[in-house]
Amino acid sequence: MILRLILGDQLNPLHSWFREVREDVVYALFESGEELRYAPHHRQKMLAFLHGIQQFAHHLRQSGHRVEYWTLDDPRQQGSLRANLEALKHELSSGTDLEIEYQEPDEYRVDQALQGIGTCVPSEHFLTERGTLATHFAGKKTYLMESFYRAMRVRHGVLLDASGQPEGGTWNFDSDNRASWDPKQHVPAEWRAHHDVREIDARLDRHEIPRWGDALADDFPWPCDRSESLALLNHFIQFGLPLFGRYQDALAEGQDFLFHSRISFALNTKMLHPREVIEAAETAWRHDPETYPLPAVEGFIRQILGWREYVRGIYWAQMPEYAELNYFNHQRPLPDWMYTGKTQMRCMQVAVGQSLRAAYAHHIQRLMVVGNFALLAGFDPRELDAWYLGIYIDALEWVEMPNTRGMSQYADGGIVGTNPYVSSGAYIHKQGNHCANCAYSVTEKVGARACPFNALYWHFYARNRPLLERNPRVGMVYRTWDKMKPDHREALLEHAEFNLLNINKL
Ligand code: FAD
Ligand code: SF4
Repeated sequence: MILRLILGDQLNPLHSWFREVREDVVYALFESGEELRYAPHHRQKMLAFLHGIQQFAHHLRQSGHRVEYWTLDDPRQQGSLRANLEALKHELSSGTDLEIEYQEPDEYRVDQALQGIGTCVPSEHFLTERGTLATHFAGKKTYLMESFYRAMRVRHGVLLDASGQPEGGTWNFDSDNRASWDPKQHVPAEWRAHHDVREIDARLDRHEIPRWGDALADDFPWPCDRSESLALLNHFIQFGLPLFGRYQDALAEGQDFLFHSRISFALNTKMLHPREVIEAAETAWRHDPETYPLPAVEGFIRQILGWREYVRGIYWAQMPEYAELNYFNHQRPLPDWMYTGKTQMRCMQVAVGQSLRAAYAHHIQRLMVVGNFALLAGFDPRELDAWYLGIYIDALEWVEMPNTRGMSQYADGGIVGTNPYVSSGAYIHKQGNHCANCAYSVTEKVGARACPFNALYWHFYARNRPLLERNPRVGMVYRTWDKMKPDHREALLEHAEFNLLNINKL
């Protein structure tokens, strides 16, 4: 007899496990108090995961498989995944030999917890092995995403012409993909699923599982099974992909999703396979290149074939040490408004407020609004990591941590990014229309109305000069700083200090 564990982020009905129905195989799915409590998560994130598990258990039963699905209420509950699995093994195995199998976990913590319990099999989800990235960069000091991405394009034959060269004559169309927001632009209607998750919510209440973020307004918008995930993907390809590239970096008032796909939850729970997503985008372009411009398609594919596989490789190459990195030794606790959205900085108010309301912010909000401010202000990366891991619907440590510590906070000292992603208010102003609705003035550098990003930008570079000055991508910033009049430099630093002292009131 075989007992197979399915984790909450392994809801893939196409896994080879399910090709045949076997009487001697039992599938186990658990709601685990330990998993739900190890970090405080957004309400909607918990509901999405638990509803996804419930739907998957139902799907397997309908398909004829033997399933053990333990909710938090199950009297046999032991709390942790491992203890539940051992208890179930004991229950099923009386007198029979019983093997345990589990799919390769993506989280280091879960991987450790399950060591030695049974046979680990591939999850059949990613386009690389855990160790591929480390092998690709063996002997190199830096891990350049672009070089990895090009190798992935060749290896998987994606967007290549007949001679194996990149379609369109270049590997990367990023320079075509940076338009600022045009408020007259029509944004497609959102795709939404409808689920009743009140029973799960009540169960979480009964078990006093700590959670944060806004409760659901009415229905539940995330896809919770494969057919809904495919519907969301199709909706994106039809309505979002054509303008994905152009507005990929845009910031807009009143628009939560713009032309972003929102498929990260479906991908990270394995309801969608990255290969089918990439194929859907490439096929759309090959059939109708006028509707689907190559820069949009290449930009989208790069996020999945490049960035997503790359950050996973970084995670497995660097864990567990990665979780301790704090290059700038930043220690500042997060201000209260990171948990309420009540700040006068309009860009932060929108990004944090939307994250609390919808458990979602798009990439440029995560990187160049919230992450940017966090790095300028010197937030403690451990607390910031917990914030990102908790708040976003798609947040799993393997993808959240390299993005937060690495790309966003440069806390890894440059493993992921060649230089810190920071900007003054000017970048945020250029990319969208938040500044027009802000209590602060983006053009002022010091004084009560000055945009806080402006002085903090210089404070960040000044205080971290010994760590950054020799970085060739940063040198220009110090040349500009050195050319400023000393009293202007002094005023900027003083104003930044004042803001940091009063950070809860910004
Ligand atoms: P789209 O903009 O439509 O992009 C398509 C897909 O590309 C995404 O669904 C995602 O699977 C992939 N992708 C895009 N950028 C990245 C990236 N940098 N790393 C990995 N995959 C990427 N993504 C997560 O899935 N989980 C996280 O916990 C997470 N935390 C982040 C934290 C920070 C500080 C930053 C800067 C980025 C983070 N990202 C994370 C990456 C990215 O912001 C999200 O994948 C994206 O916003 C999800 O929305 P979408 O599906 O609409 O993406
Ligand atoms: Fe953000 Fe500054 Fe613009 Fe206000 S003025 S929205 S704080 S960038």
